[in-house]
Amino acid sequence: MSQSNDCIFCKIVKGEIPSTKIFEDDDVLAFMDIFPVTEGHCLLIPKKHYVNLFDVDLDLLAKVSKKLAELARKVNRAFSPDGVLTAAANGPGAGQEVPHLHFHVIPRNEGAEFGFHFPESYRDSMAPREELERIAKTIRES
Ligand code: 5GP
Ligand code: ZN
Repeated sequence: MSQSNDCIFCKIVKGEIPSTKIFEDDDVLAFMDIFPVTEGHCLLIPKKHYVNLFDVDLDLLAKVSKKLAELARKVNRAFSPDGVLTAAANGPGAGQEVPHLHFHVIPRNEGAEFGFHFPESYRDSMAPREELERIAKTIRES
């Protein structure tokens, strides 16, 4: 299996550093985050090393996505939180610190201090339709 020697999550997959596992199969590993934001915060990774959504094999991602839903459902049943946040940061600019694709699964309750932080002013004015059309076109054609 293709892995990176200096990657902390590859080391977890290989058992070179300890982790608290939830489940695993040939393709994925679900384990507890060592710095949990809330009780039940865990991570799901493909065992094979990919940096993030920009390079991951799409057939593998389909398998990972299915397991992500399974893990989110388990966490939801285990803790009955107000909601479960599932998120992946792609690139340092998005907050990715460990460069091995991982999805956070985080139980979240009303009033939690964490979440996506949009600026206060972001709802002040709707974007003009022409601008949304132009930006959508840029994304569509990329
Ligand atoms: P990122 O900021 O890259 O989206 O998230 C990386 C996550 O990996 C963080 O939530 C961090 O707590 C977790 N993490 C970093 N090192 C380890 C480790 O050695 N073991 C475990 N279980 N989690 C880790
Ligand atoms: Zn890795």
